[in-house]
Amino acid sequence: MPRSIVAGNWKMNTTLDEAATLASEVAEGLAEAGSVELILCPPYISLAVVRRAVNGSGIHVGAQNMHYEASGAFTGEVSAAMLRSLCHYVILGHSERRQLFGETDETVNRKVHAAQDAGLRPIVCVGETLAQREEGGAADVVEGQVLACVADVHDITDVVVAYEPVWAIGTGRAATPEIAEEIMRDLFGDDGDSVPLLYGGSVNVGNAAAFAAQPSINGALVGGASLQADQFLQIAAEV
Ligand code: PGA
Repeated sequence: MPRSIVAGNWKMNTTLDEAATLASEVAEGLAEAGSVELILCPPYISLAVVRRAVNGSGIHVGAQNMHYEASGAFTGEVSAAMLRSLCHYVILGHSERRQLFGETDETVNRKVHAAQDAGLRPIVCVGETLAQREEGGAADVVEGQVLACVADVHDITDVVVAYEPVWAIGTGRAATPEIAEEIMRDLFGDDGDSVPLLYGGSVNVGNAAAFAAQPSINGALVGGASLQADQFLQIAAEV
């Protein structure tokens, strides 16, 4: 069983100073978090200050996105090699990127390859919409997304997968632990024990333990609650 992981996705929140403060608070409270692996994913511009703030603590840093091309005329974009000098993880295919910025399983797959080639560990996000769940197709949707996103990767065990039902993200309406377990249980067959699977979507201090208690769930991807150091650390302590 992989070590538990709790990642904080700060999304488009925190100025440079706020990011440095939040990261320092998490690092200072680390003893409360138990033995889980913590990952902080601030906006690009704060990666360097967050890295400095957690230096030597064992906390990892991650980006929230990247481009799949190595370099060139892609105004406003950031490559895997640029990120590799700042962080070890990168969130790919978050549902907000899929819904608001046109990402597809195919672009996510290209990004997964580029990330791994550069030595970054991808956290690949998948999850069904409410309509897909109501149609009864959630498991097939998620399985299809996972297979497409990790197609032809060299090392599946170096991928982290986050199951984040779209209807549970930022809504305060988390999935039940049983729903999450049902979706995640059969995702990787024989590799199931070596690919960390995170649940995400309205994770908070009150529900983190119940998700983590499910046999197939190895941790959490936390949005809103990761912006408060005490809440994030408490979630980590429960996972
Ligand atoms: P949330 O976000 O915890 O605010 O629902 C989770 C995510 O988007 O990763």
